[in-house]
Amino acid sequence: MNADEMIELCKKHSMYTWSAGNAVSPIPVERAEGVFMYEPSGKRHYDFNSQLMSVNIGHHHPKVREAMKDQVDKLLYVFPGTATEVRARLSKKLAGLVPGNINTFFYTLGGAEANENALKAARYYTGRHKILSRYRSYHGATNACMQLTGDPRRIPNEPGGAGFVKVMDPWPYNYKFGDDEEEITRNNLEYLEEVIMYEGHDQIAAMFVETITGTNGVLAPPKGYLKGLKELLSKYGILMICDEVMAGWGRSGKLFAFEHYDFVPDIVTFAKGLTSSYMPLGAMGVSDPIAEHFKTNVFWGGLTYNSHPLALRTAEAAIDVMLEENMLENATQLGKVMRSEMDRLTEKHPSVKEGRCIGLFGMMDLQKNSQGERMAPYNGTSEAMGKLGAFFRENGLFTFVRWGSFMCNPPLCITEEQLLECFEIIDRGLDVTDQYFEG
Ligand code: PLP
Repeated sequence: MNADEMIELCKKHSMYTWSAGNAVSPIPVERAEGVFMYEPSGKRHYDFNSQLMSVNIGHHHPKVREAMKDQVDKLLYVFPGTATEVRARLSKKLAGLVPGNINTFFYTLGGAEANENALKAARYYTGRHKILSRYRSYHGATNACMQLTGDPRRIPNEPGGAGFVKVMDPWPYNYKFGDDEEEITRNNLEYLEEVIMYEGHDQIAAMFVETITGTNGVLAPPKGYLKGLKELLSKYGILMICDEVMAGWGRSGKLFAFEHYDFVPDIVTFAKGLTSSYMPLGAMGVSDPIAEHFKTNVFWGGLTYNSHPLALRTAEAAIDVMLEENMLENATQLGKVMRSEMDRLTEKHPSVKEGRCIGLFGMMDLQKNSQGERMAPYNGTSEAMGKLGAFFRENGLFTFVRWGSFMCNPPLCITEEQLLECFEIIDRGLDVTDQYFEG
């Protein structure tokens, strides 16, 4: 099949996510390796977003493929009520890798299902029903996760069920570098305590937070916020659930983003980087007291593909590769290179508002004037951003251009030379947006 046929049939007989079918213009992909994906024509694209911030070890790793082939020959599927060696091995490995008292895991097919099950676990465990989450968040596309989500994808999915309470993020939308982080934290936690009072503290089961906000800005929390939040929630018996679907598995330079902030949540959810997306898999990890509760109380949840042997084996191999090939260290080291490239481009291009990154988890914001007005409005697009996206695609850099920002999330195996080559393409792309800078 040639590229045109691929595109035509995919568009005719399959639906694309988050879009009207006629509006999509998919890249035809034949193969992918390391930090690159290739069209049938041979055209090469840098994968500067690890697909959906998820192919963390890079594409097509031979060790993972070998482990998957071996598992295909051993055991492909048994129902979730069985015990398998791979389930035993991976669960023990996760108990060792996830910090603190999180030692027990429930496997799902992806991030949304991990959050759905965390929501259920929190409600069953506490006997309460309300759930807090933040406006600048994404937690998945299933019905309940759409109600947890604060970003605009929630709006066409409303009204949802009762009991979902949305709160403000610590960072104001138009914060400036240099704002007093401790004051921001103090103000936000005071405000949250007031919300908890108004909602009835004994009605609230849990609060969901992305440890580092992903799609909605790559926002690391202000100083002291997450630790303070955990203390505040614990005071009222409210569980803290960290959604690490995007921030986890090495993206920030640590296996889990919460390791940067000196606290352990009650429940953590992850997916994406767990298998580097080679197979669909997510998980909810619960702390010992919650695990203990479900030893004597039924967990009312299940999935045909819970603990799927092939997915678990893939996770095991992908984790081994990440650790053996020192990808956390690489993310930390090259995060510094990304930081200095972002600074260089901010200095050089008037249309750059700022760049943020922690490890290889990054985003750059563009502005249309020196007052910092964004190059496209919240939940909107603009000609300048459209042209930037087209430039990246033309020049072989795949990433997400969204609203007035674009993502910088390469696989964690990227080399310094490759990273600099990506920023060289970005540098030229920003000449395009500079033409829209109004002064
Ligand atoms: N939570 C976060 C923070 C995410 O970024 C995503 C996906 O992008 C999800 C949950 C949902 O994961 P999935 O698409 O695997 O259901």
